[in-house]
This record gives sequence, C-alpha cells and structure tokens, in this order.
Amino acid sequence: MPVDRPTAASAERKPLSVPQKALRKMGLLRPIDLALHLPLRYEDETRLGRLADARDGDLLQFEAVVQSCQVVFKPRRQLQAVVSDGTDICTLRFFNFYPNMQKALEVGRHVRLRGELRGGFMGYTMMHPTVQAAGVPLAAALTPVYPSTAELPQAYLRKAVLGGLARALQSDAFAETIAPEHLPPRTWGLRESLQFLHHPPPDVSLGELEDRSHPAWQRLKAEELLAQQLSQLKAKRERQLLNAPVLAHSVRAEGVLAQLQARLPFALTRAQQRVVHDIANDLARAVPMHRLLQGDVGSGKTVVAALAAAQCIDAGWQCALMAPTEILAEQHFAKLVGWLAPVLQPLGLQVAWLTGSQKKKERDAMLAMVASGQAALVIGTHAVIQDKVRFKSLGLAIIDEQHRFGVAQRLALRQKLSDADNGEEHTDSAPQEPHLLMMSATPIPRTLAMSYYADLDVSTIDELPPGRTPVVTKLLADTRRDELVERMRSQLQAGRQVYWVCPLIEESEALDLRNATDTHEQLCRALPDVMIGLLHSRMPQAEKKAVMSLFVQGQMGVLVSTTVIEVGVDVPNASLMVIEHAERFGLSQLHQLRGRVGRGAAASACVLLYALGEHGRLSDTARERLRAMVETGDGFEIARRDLEIRGPGEFLGARQSGAAMLRFADLATDIELLKWAQQLAPVMLDQYPDRAERHVQRWLGGKSDFLKA
Ligand code: ADP
Ligand code: MG
Repeated sequence: MPVDRPTAASAERKPLSVPQKALRKMGLLRPIDLALHLPLRYEDETRLGRLADARDGDLLQFEAVVQSCQVVFKPRRQLQAVVSDGTDICTLRFFNFYPNMQKALEVGRHVRLRGELRGGFMGYTMMHPTVQAAGVPLAAALTPVYPSTAELPQAYLRKAVLGGLARALQSDAFAETIAPEHLPPRTWGLRESLQFLHHPPPDVSLGELEDRSHPAWQRLKAEELLAQQLSQLKAKRERQLLNAPVLAHSVRAEGVLAQLQARLPFALTRAQQRVVHDIANDLARAVPMHRLLQGDVGSGKTVVAALAAAQCIDAGWQCALMAPTEILAEQHFAKLVGWLAPVLQPLGLQVAWLTGSQKKKERDAMLAMVASGQAALVIGTHAVIQDKVRFKSLGLAIIDEQHRFGVAQRLALRQKLSDADNGEEHTDSAPQEPHLLMMSATPIPRTLAMSYYADLDVSTIDELPPGRTPVVTKLLADTRRDELVERMRSQLQAGRQVYWVCPLIEESEALDLRNATDTHEQLCRALPDVMIGLLHSRMPQAEKKAVMSLFVQGQMGVLVSTTVIEVGVDVPNASLMVIEHAERFGLSQLHQLRGRVGRGAAASACVLLYALGEHGRLSDTARERLRAMVETGDGFEIARRDLEIRGPGEFLGARQSGAAMLRFADLATDIELLKWAQQLAPVMLDQYPDRAERHVQRWLGGKSDFLKA
C-alpha cells in the first residue's frame, strides 16, 4: 500500500520513498485529502481508434503491427519505428528510450499505442507514445490524470488517490452536511460526485468534465465556496461579539481633530469626506471596526488616516500606523508629525517612530513612550507589531498598503490586536480589541470582495484631488533609450524631477537585466550637470535616507532606484517616471509606480521601456499588461484586468492567501454558486451549527486562519 496512514511507528520503521515524500509535500496524507485531489483531465483508454479516422492533434489509442524499427541519428539519436493498423501507417519517435523499448517494438509485433497524433505533410507521427502489448483488456472508465510533480509518477499517485478515495468513502468523511432542500440546482450528492469524478464512465461528455460545468463538479465547487463563506461569516460574528473602545467623534475646538482640520492646507474631496464619515461612525461604536479603505494611488488616503488617528487620540487612546517599507513609513512620519506634532505638543503627547533598523537606545526610548502612553501615535514598519511593543491603550491600528504585507504578517497583526495589552484604566469591564483600518491602492474586484473579504467593510475614495493632470503613458523599445535621455534634458532644465526604476540590483546571468548601478553610471555620463541619485534595497538605511531626502527636497534631478519607491512616495514635483524592463513588472506594480508622478500641476508622463525576449517578442501576458497600462489610468480597471490576466490566487500575492486556496471554484465563472453559498451560510450557522462546523473542518481544517489574514 503506497500511502499508509502516517503513524509514528511506520515513520520510524523505514524512511519515506521519494514519491511518498512528494505526496506529503503536496499535503496528500489523509484519505480525505487524497479523495479531494481531483483529476486535471482524463485520458480515454476505453476504446480503440483507427488511423484513417484520426486527425492532427487527436489523442489516439490504436493497435498496429510494427513494420520497421531502428535507431537513427537525424538530427539526434532517436528510436524510430513505423507501424501500420491496416488503414494507414504512422511513424513513432522516441528521443529517450531503454533497450526494452526496442524489444517491445520488434518488427512484426502487435502493439497498442497511445499518444498525440501529428498528421504532417509527411504522414502521421507520434512522439513518445505509450506502448503496450495489443489485446490487453480496455479500461472500463476514463483514466484520470492528476495534478502532480516530477517526483510523483502518475501511476503511483493514481493508486494512492484511488486508495484514499475508497477509504474515505467507507468512513463518514463525506457524510452530507447540506440538507437536500438547500442544495443548489443541478448538483449531485457529494459521495456520488467524488466517485464519479475519479471514475467517470466512458460515455460521459469530456467537455462538461473539462470545463467543470458537470453537476459533479458543481457540487464540489458549491461545497468549497460554502466552507469559505461559513468561515468568513463565523469570523465576522465572533468579531461582533468583541468589545472595542468607543472613540467618540469630538467637535471640541481645542481637540486634536478640530485643530488638525483647521490646519489642513486643502479642503477634503467629497469622496474623502464620505469615507472619513464612515470611519468616524465605526470608531464611535463599541464593536471593533474592520474596514478597508481603498483608493487609487494619489487619491489622498493619508489624510483620512490622520483624521481617524486624531479622533482616536481625542478619545484618550493610542493609534498605530504601520507601513510595509521603511521609506514609506518615514514619509508618513514626516507628514503626520508636520500636521499633528504642533497640536499634540501642548498636550504633552508625542509621535513615536519604530523600525527594525533603529539603534537600541533610540528604540528603547520609543518603546518606553509607547508603554507610558506618552506616544499618542506610533508610526513604523512591522516593527510596530513585534512582541516587545506594549501599548498603554491601543485604540486604533492603521495598516497602509495592506496587500503588501505577507499573510504571516497580517496574521501576526491580528494576534497582536487581540492580545493588545490595553492599560488598566480602560479594562474595568471586558477586554477591548482595537479598531482596524486597512488601506490599499489595489482595489478588490467585486467577486473577491464578496468571497474572501466577506468579513470586511469597504470604503472607496473614487475621486482624485482637484488639479491633477492625467499621466500620459508611452511604450518605448529599450533600444531607443538614448532618445529618451535627450528628451529628459529639457524636463530637468525646467526644474522637473525624474524617477527611473529598474527591476534588479545585480546583474544576473540568467536574466539579462540591466542593473540599477549600470543605469546610474550611464545617466551620470549622459547628464553630467544633473544630480543623479541611486537607491536600492541593499544600501544601508542611513544612505537611503540621505538620497531620498535630497530627492524630496528637489536638489536631485533623477532618482534611479529599484522598486523600493514603489509604494507611497510623494514628491509632487516629479513629472516623469521611467520604468526599465517594464515587461517584467506586474500590472498593479506598474500602476503603483506610475502613480508616483502626476501629483502636481505639471503635465506628467510615464515611459515604459521594454526589451524583447529571446525569441524577439514579448510574452502574451507581458503584452497584455503593457497594453492595459497604455489604455487606462483607472486603478479599478487595472485591478479588473490584472485579475483577468493573473487569476485571483496570484492577484492576492501570497500563495496561501484565501483565493489561492480555492481549488475548484473559479470566482470569474462561479458567481451563481458564490451567491448561493453566501445565502446559505447564515441559515446553516443558525440552524445547523454542528453541520456547519463539520463542513468547515472538512474543507479547511487548520487552514481557516489564513482566511482571516
Ligand atoms: P495615497 O492615497 O496614494 O496614499 P496621499 O495620501 O499620499 O495618496 O495623497 C497624495 C497627495 O495628495 C499628497 O500630496 C496629499 O497631501 C495630497 N492631497 C490629499 N488630499 C488632497 C485634497 N483633498 N486636495 C488636495 N491635495 C490633496
Ligand atoms: Mg499612500
């Protein structure tokens, strides 16, 4: 038996074989996991065809007699055999072969062959067909082909899966959890569906199986979506039972909020006013807020965060603001200190700064300020959520560019929030959990919001501050970069600034990418009277800081950098963004980078330099991404296209993100099932809580935590 239950005893007895390890690596351990490892596609070995009836590209199984067989050397060593089935002849080719293959194909032998038929001008050929003796019984069902890896041969995997399926079907692992009257239309029973998908009979429509519209597939997708809706809804209900500090909206003229409002150098857009209002209402409730603020790059999310922080501070609680990179955190720090410090100082309050690269002495001083409550606002990188950080009374946590944090970091944050060691003066009653505001420039498409972010309230800033000029986007072949440098001269002379972004910092032989250092040198030579800075992630923090501040203050004309400037950097005087090897960047990354320009009144441009690949062309997805960039500047449209190009799993970045865990359902096509699951989840939690629990366990087991991240 290839896949025994992994008991401690059997593990000790002998080391795991390569395929056993591979099964383990794929998480295929329990019978239920094996049974849910469903075929990618099927091969039809139930019938024999004839060469005369076949067409180019067919997957054909046929029986024939070997007419010739020899090793030839054109163009490289290969075994070549010609067979005839009486209706036509076919040439078989094998580039890798064992001596026993020659034996199996001795002239005169009657063989059964299976493979993809190529019907060229020179007659039929088949590369590397499967060879068996003719006359063995035909398969009774379609042969499943499972998703696998190189270390795991299909035959081994198939045996393991079918063994697991049999055991799972004998147990109550797949007992029904959904009442028949609640099942979606046109779906089958669960056990029946599994049995069918692993052993489909020969007369079934392969089309329905392959596009997963078959009722058996529908059932599995429904199950999966329901599990995910149940776990989201459970999380939401659990959160609503928690207590949060009531951060009342105060209009006192001497309050931090009122003073900040009075100090702002601009009026809020209507969209900003609307989201500020949503957030203010949430903060004033005794239930922890769990809100996502989405708005395109440059839409002005920072000021919204500042106003929320002010409301929190007015209520006597601390606020933490966390950003994914040090540079971004620093920008927030500079901006918020500018707005808030003069207001906080007279109250004896401070803004603290926390980051991984900080000196111990400074860090200890900051930690003390956070613990004593003297720091009303704490800004930093994920250092803010590290173990040592103890808040006196954390009332609100704000995460900027939340999608840039990994799943693990997001989970750590949740943990930190629920453990928040909030000061005694506030904990006379139940423990208090802080409010949470997440911000993102990458909007979530509707289907994702319905499914993976069901436990999230969303506010959207759908309007840019006035006076912005749209960014013109141009594609330019890398071979024309000299012309570009010429054109930069006039921009620089007019006092404008330029970002030049490169994808890597070191030359890699495999990817012939021009590195930032080379580009920097090259630009220095071409533009000798311009100050040109270089910024990359391997530089010491202090150096990065120095370069960045020269650019922010406007002394530096060109900033050559790797993607460290990707998020949040705000230099309104920069009007040209050059992205080198744009074909290597993801769509939302390109859009984020482009958002660094067009922040002032000057007309701005984004130049996407591209280099053709080995074959003298761009890959299809690269071409689609670049086209999308030229065609639209709207972040929502970009997000939609990104989802289309990449699929939801990758869209969310982390492999283990919720959507990547959707194995069967497809958010682009299974909207009806998603709606069904969304309606059933509350009914099931209310009426059949035990079944709901069993259902979630079956599908998500220990993974349901990831869905909360
Ligand atoms: P993002 O949403 O990308 O984080 P920022 O908060 O960095 O955007 O805002 C971009 C720029 O727009 C900043 O310089 C900010 O001060 C400015 N800004 C924000 N709101 C307004 C407004 N209502 N009117 C004018 N400028 C604004
Ligand atoms: Mg921002």
